Amino acid sequence: MRFRDTPAEAAFRSELRTWLARNAPAEKDCVTFEQQHEWQRVLAAAGWVGVAWPVEHGGRGASLIEQAIFNEEITRARAPQPINAIGLGMVGPTIMAVGTREQKDRYLQKILAADEIWCQGFSEPGSGSDLGSLRTRAAADGDDFVVNGQKVWTSFGNVADRCALLARTDPEAGKYQGITYFLLDMHTPGVEVRPLRQLNGDAEFCEIFLTDVRIPRENILGEINGGWKVAMTTLMHERGTFGFTLVTDARIKLQELVALATAEGRDGSRPVDDPVVRQRLAQLYVDVETMWLNAVRGLSATMKTGIPSPEASLSKLGWSETTQRIAALAVEILGPAALVTSGLSPWPQVQLRSLAHTIEAGTSEVLRNSIAERVLGLPRYK
Ligand SMILES: Cc1cc2nc3c(=O)[nH]c(=O)nc-3n(C[C@H](O)[C@H](O)[C@H](O)COP(=O)(O)OP(=O)(O)OC[C@H]3O[C@@H](n4cnc5c(N)ncnc54)[C@H](O)[C@@H]3O)c2cc1C
Repeated sequence: MRFRDTPAEAAFRSELRTWLARNAPAEKDCVTFEQQHEWQRVLAAAGWVGVAWPVEHGGRGASLIEQAIFNEEITRARAPQPINAIGLGMVGPTIMAVGTREQKDRYLQKILAADEIWCQGFSEPGSGSDLGSLRTRAAADGDDFVVNGQKVWTSFGNVADRCALLARTDPEAGKYQGITYFLLDMHTPGVEVRPLRQLNGDAEFCEIFLTDVRIPRENILGEINGGWKVAMTTLMHERGTFGFTLVTDARIKLQELVALATAEGRDGSRPVDDPVVRQRLAQLYVDVETMWLNAVRGLSATMKTGIPSPEASLSKLGWSETTQRIAALAVEILGPAALVTSGLSPWPQVQLRSLAHTIEAGTSEVLRNSIAERVLGLPRYK
């Protein structure tokens, strides 16, 4: 494990910082889907998308450390993230790992250029943490499979062109054996997308209803009934690639909280003069820096094996709970002003959104089980 950039990494960081300073729009100027789409195209044209993807698939062919530097720097610059996050971070790496030559040629370049936006159709109304219980059914019919069922919480579902879809192809097989991983064209007849409105007013994710949707056999990723293993590859990448993005996001939020706590109120007092607030800020600093060390630890382990390490769960767990505590303290400091959620301060919105942090990409309880078994080597949960 090393903590400092090599000269080559420092040069990469500096070039990227300069480029972002010249080219990145402010987050507030990159709000609509079209603007976010265009931003990924600009990033891709300059070679900043798919930093660690092989050159043969259109990537930059750099190392995972350079990918981590990219994640850190784009977040530090408060620039918008590439819109095709699921394609870049999850589906693309899965296609590279198990796809056929044709599938790699067909999908990967379009992910980088944001020509096709991806979503992830795993969760269902009755299946989240216990994903193996999913009930969406795909029945073979000639050269196609015919899919019926429902997905939920599908981020980017309303703008996606493609979906990494899990469906049950053998209802008689064991829970994890009869599932197949499909690459679904979201524009196929029978796919109906309904956005869901969240607590904070945004509509980030959707329900997807699938009625007699035909998917050609060539759009199966991996083996028929072998989808569970492929899905695990996707989920490992979900937690694996975002560690440095998450730490930098937490660092920025903590800096903003410190600024809020050190600002003088109308009576000239400052929240930070309260010893309990100081204690909580200091603890949050320790938590954020511990997250960073765990992100480095995860990256180190991943570089040894080439696949995302179970340590990645530490970063996701740390980020979820620490950013919830940061937002909660900010809202406490704001006091009654936090009840005004429209525009005065971003913190009430941040706090409402933070409630989802401990659910998305694996709940905190599920991550703790995973850390217990796969990082600490404790006996399996029954
Ligand atoms: C913002 C957001 C975006 C999302 N995006 C997507 C997406 O794009 N695609 C997609 O497929 N899904 C998506 N999800 C769904 C997400 O993966 C699930 O919500 C998550 O896996 C939890 O499943 P669940 O909601 O069914 O809760 P459940 O699994 O029913 O869990 C309920 C409670 O039981 C606890 N629990 C469950 N099992 C255990 C256990 N074994 N041990 C201890 N406690 C347990 C959980 O921790 C939780 O507290 C998203 C969710 C959110 C919040």
